[in-house]
Amino acid sequence: MDKATHFDDLLVKSGLKRTSARLQVLEILSNKNSATSQPYLEQVMGKDADRVTLYRVLQAFEEKGIIHKVLDSHGTANYALCADGCNAQHHQDEHVHFDCNRCHKIYCLESVKIPVPKVPSGFKIGHLNLIATGTCAACAEQSN
Ligand SMILES: [Zn+2]
Ligand SMILES: [Zn+2]
Ligand SMILES: [Zn+2]
Repeated sequence: MDKATHFDDLLVKSGLKRTSARLQVLEILSNKNSATSQPYLEQVMGKDADRVTLYRVLQAFEEKGIIHKVLDSHGTANYALCADGCNAQHHQDEHVHFDCNRCHKIYCLESVKIPVPKVPSGFKIGHLNLIATGTCAACAEQSN
């Protein structure tokens, strides 16, 4: 399946209409090996979509289990495509996110699951978030 077909498929499966703004966001997010910041998306899509449109696209994608949001250490929203396990009912993005303080990329470390902490009785965890900061592999290599 090529990428365009895959995106069409994803939108149909999620009950979303195929719009150029939606396809564009999918295209941008899928081309990066790290999460994409909202300001970057605004910048790239500025000519074709206004902020409100972009905001709605991101919100719908998040609701449908297509993307997840990661806040970096500055509180800026970054978005990454979800793995197959996510859907409209349930996200499964309990993996560690890595915020590189040299290149400022946010990586999804999908193979590194967040251990679920034991909480006092009566408490119920809805969402877990763990951001590690440090140096990513690419930056570490460069400094050698
Ligand atoms: Zn997800
Ligand atoms: Zn880096
Ligand atoms: Zn992630």
